[in-house]
Amino acid sequence: MNLPKRFAGLPVSEGIALGTLHIADTETAVSATPEEVGEAFAAVAAERFALAERLRDAGREQEAAIIEVGGLIAADPLLADPAVAAVRDGGDVATAVRQATEAQAAVLEALPNPEMAERAGDVRQVAHAVLDRLSQAGAAPRPAGDFILVRREVSPADLIELAEAGLVGAVSVAGGASSHAAIIARGLGVPMIAGTDPAVLATPAGQRGLLDADAGELIVGPEAGDLPAVLTGHDLSQRQPGPVGSDEPARTADGREITVLCNVASAAETRRGLAAGAAGVGLLRTEIPYTEALAWPTLAEDQAQLEPILSLLTGRPATVRLLDFSGDKIPPFLRDEAGVGSGPSGEAAGLAALLAHRTALPDQLRAILQAGRGTNLAVLIPMVSSLDEVRQVRDVLTKTAAALGADLPRLGIMVELQVTAAAAATFAPAVDFFSIGTNDLTGQVLGLDRRDPTAKPALAADPRVLALIARVADAGRQAGIGVSVCGDSAADPLVLPLLIGLGVNTLSVPAARVERVRTWLAGLDTPACAALAAAALQASTVDQVRDLVPPL
Ligand code: PEP
Ligand code: MG
Repeated sequence: MNLPKRFAGLPVSEGIALGTLHIADTETAVSATPEEVGEAFAAVAAERFALAERLRDAGREQEAAIIEVGGLIAADPLLADPAVAAVRDGGDVATAVRQATEAQAAVLEALPNPEMAERAGDVRQVAHAVLDRLSQAGAAPRPAGDFILVRREVSPADLIELAEAGLVGAVSVAGGASSHAAIIARGLGVPMIAGTDPAVLATPAGQRGLLDADAGELIVGPEAGDLPAVLTGHDLSQRQPGPVGSDEPARTADGREITVLCNVASAAETRRGLAAGAAGVGLLRTEIPYTEALAWPTLAEDQAQLEPILSLLTGRPATVRLLDFSGDKIPPFLRDEAGVGSGPSGEAAGLAALLAHRTALPDQLRAILQAGRGTNLAVLIPMVSSLDEVRQVRDVLTKTAAALGADLPRLGIMVELQVTAAAAATFAPAVDFFSIGTNDLTGQVLGLDRRDPTAKPALAADPRVLALIARVADAGRQAGIGVSVCGDSAADPLVLPLLIGLGVNTLSVPAARVERVRTWLAGLDTPACAALAAAALQASTVDQVRDLVPPL
């Protein structure tokens, strides 16, 4: 028997999957003919011109002009011809494209006119797009039937797009349990490992793979006859979705009612969460499909995204978060050369960018109000750090609702920055509810980036994070507003009892975890959880907290 290859990885979304490997990035150098290089430049130009036209049709002239500049750059023979010629002379494709674009970028950067100098960033973006296109063309086509996606960095948008197209598992070289790809994988119930050896990208196309994301291992190339041996110790039955959940409210063992909602970014997750017994959606991450976008979504794109999800939520809670282009979700048009921060034209990322843009916020609110008409609608502001941000959003929301003749939805904030959690009592009178984002809050308190392989939901049990959660819960109680937790630690067996002990009554958890969380809640006793939380707040380290909390 051929010995299958094994690749270890960090388990970031549990489960076991069997399928054909789909290697969407290749480790080998990009290979292409000179003609293909020329065609890739032309295709990037065409893509940008088409997007510019859509933006212009939507009345977004300024952005259309920016995107069009990208199209003109890609179509410029001064850029494409030297790259094509270098490849014809036997040069490496990636080097040829980079050298040709760097030469042009350097010319622009040297210009005295600052606006022209900034176009150097656009030239580099074109180079990225051309190389992306060429490496995708070199990658194997998507296999028919069940497949496991393998990428250098699996993006959350990949998972959403492929969720109903045969995707059964994912393997990422980069990232960890707090990356958004991992979060979406948990929501979809797709097994995933991260931090895998890049050598996995060199696996030949079409091989079968067994992904055991509980054990943190991808086994490549088990042939049909080898499977019984390979499968020993791997229980494939876990892949099957569990039984349909109950519509009854979730309760602790002592009868306290807890509202369990689900976190989603797609209709597929929403259906899954509702079938498992979620009362509705507590966090709709609207930015996920746009993490690779070239411009702010148009009104039509907002509507097309929201309608299929919100139409499933008639009469139920539907908490829609405004676009959160922060952390590991900053799209190319807001990224600087280092891949973070601000875009080539100097735009800030995150909430500041949304508030500064002329149409993105009113367009999104309009789409939310229209698509959410039949739901128990709430709007959630991400990454809030000041009362002024809340006031700005409330103004636009009030005007948009009045223009549409729509009811004013509840307006809440994500409490996910340390300053905001510490000042929760100041924010409480200005908002209708708090939703605690333990993913970012924990990362900030502990100094861990979202992609850091050591970041994980259980770290919200750190006494410093718990103290902030307790503070927010108290501020909410005193102001008489709702407090929910929508970070992934709400579905973590170590943190869940502590949240219940701190008085949290609403949880929003990954769609595929709803049933398990309901079951865990049924085994918890509120007074015992309160005693645990009080003891945890007195502890010094997360390990001490772990020793206090009995396993669920
Ligand atoms: C959080 O930070 O906990 C949160 C729910 O937001 P996101 O994971 O989308 O950043
Ligand atoms: Mg967050």
